[in-house]
Amino acid sequence: MKVQRSSYKILSYKIKHSYDVEEFLSSYRYLLQKAIDIIWSNIEWIEKKQRNHYLIRNGKKFERKHYYVKRLIPLIPKSREFKRSLRNTLLENWDYASHYIDSAIKVAYSIINSWRRNYLRGRRGGNKPLVKRRFIRVKETLYVYRDGKIRVTVKPREFYLEFDLSKAWFKKRVEDYDLGELILKENELIITFRKPVKETRITEYIGWDLNKCSLDGFSPKYGWIKIDLRRLYHIHRVHEVKRKKVQSIASKKPSLRAIVSKQGRRERNRAKDSIHKLTTQLSMMFPNIVHGFEDLEKQRMYTKRKRHNRDIAKQNWKQIIQYMSYKARVKLVDPYNTSSTCPMCGGKVMKLRKGQIVKCRKCGLTLDRQLCGAINIYLRMCGFPQSPSTFYHVVIKRMIPWWKMRMKALEGVTTNGDEGGDKPPMNPGGGLSLMNPKAYIDLPIPM
Ligand SMILES: [Zn+2]
Repeated sequence: MKVQRSSYKILSYKIKHSYDVEEFLSSYRYLLQKAIDIIWSNIEWIEKKQRNHYLIRNGKKFERKHYYVKRLIPLIPKSREFKRSLRNTLLENWDYASHYIDSAIKVAYSIINSWRRNYLRGRRGGNKPLVKRRFIRVKETLYVYRDGKIRVTVKPREFYLEFDLSKAWFKKRVEDYDLGELILKENELIITFRKPVKETRITEYIGWDLNKCSLDGFSPKYGWIKIDLRRLYHIHRVHEVKRKKVQSIASKKPSLRAIVSKQGRRERNRAKDSIHKLTTQLSMMFPNIVHGFEDLEKQRMYTKRKRHNRDIAKQNWKQIIQYMSYKARVKLVDPYNTSSTCPMCGGKVMKLRKGQIVKCRKCGLTLDRQLCGAINIYLRMCGFPQSPSTFYHVVIKRMIPWWKMRMKALEGVTTNGDEGGDKPPMNPGGGLSLMNPKAYIDLPIPM
């Protein structure tokens, strides 16, 4: 069954009231319970054979053993005739507006349906649900909203409740929203506001590892994505050299100080522009994606390295994450050891070949350092632990077709990953180290 996700953004607020609605609340609860009682007594119980299974070990494999149990399955009455007669029965002796009957029927069905779901999953027994709390669902047909005031009909032409929202503290926040359902309680009214939102269905995660010169992403769907940040880094380097020159002159000639600050401003603007373009491109290339990054605030606690170079890169990273969060959904993960942990077994990795490739000391998995970081960030944002079976299911299994394709494309090409000791154990052909980034996005610098 497909579940249609609500495409509304919903906000809800409470406001206090001092109306005496005791009797009204009690009557409604009685009405709701009566509706449940009637539906309950019309449930048809059907005996069904249900197939269950358990697992037994057979050597290395698990086998399913099936067995049958008899179960009583409740069939909830839903026909139009039934609902009409239910409505008519409830209308007898009901003194308030008749729309509350429809509200109560709706609530009664949702209570019974949720009981049924839990019953079928074995989470609830076969006892009739009882309404304990006192509340009234006020549908749109039971109130008017005009000039900042809500008028709820209790008894038509006799009894109304009025709530003034014109001075409510949340007024500004709900300006472009529509008023939704209300819930009346003894001392408060819960008001929901809603606004249609563009349907965004999150289907995938991408874990991004930010490096000085590249942005490396991993997701089972897109594989390894590598984005060149060298030019962005270059902007800072070039300006840094210029700045130093001008600075040393300016220290002797105060009149040149304005040039120094102008240089700095230009550098920042160019970098900003460049990051804006990058993040816009990313959010458009990978729609409906949650982008995972390392939490830089936490990273400060873990790293002790040469400050200067990292500061430039960090400045960029901070902005990349910040801008990205304006344009897409971003999730921050704990950066602890993301690039020095084996994504397959959780062991420590060592650096090979000037640090570009890492190899696990425990299981021997060998892969690009940046890819390693990206996979770890991906695993972390999904909440998966580093384990061989997770690695197989999440990384290898889904990437095999992709690897095969790449292997074909690279056939006959000697790659830098072809030294005996670097081959990952599960890929005799040297799959992981052989892999080239799928997408290589060249970032244009604004002139
Ligand atoms: Zn390992």
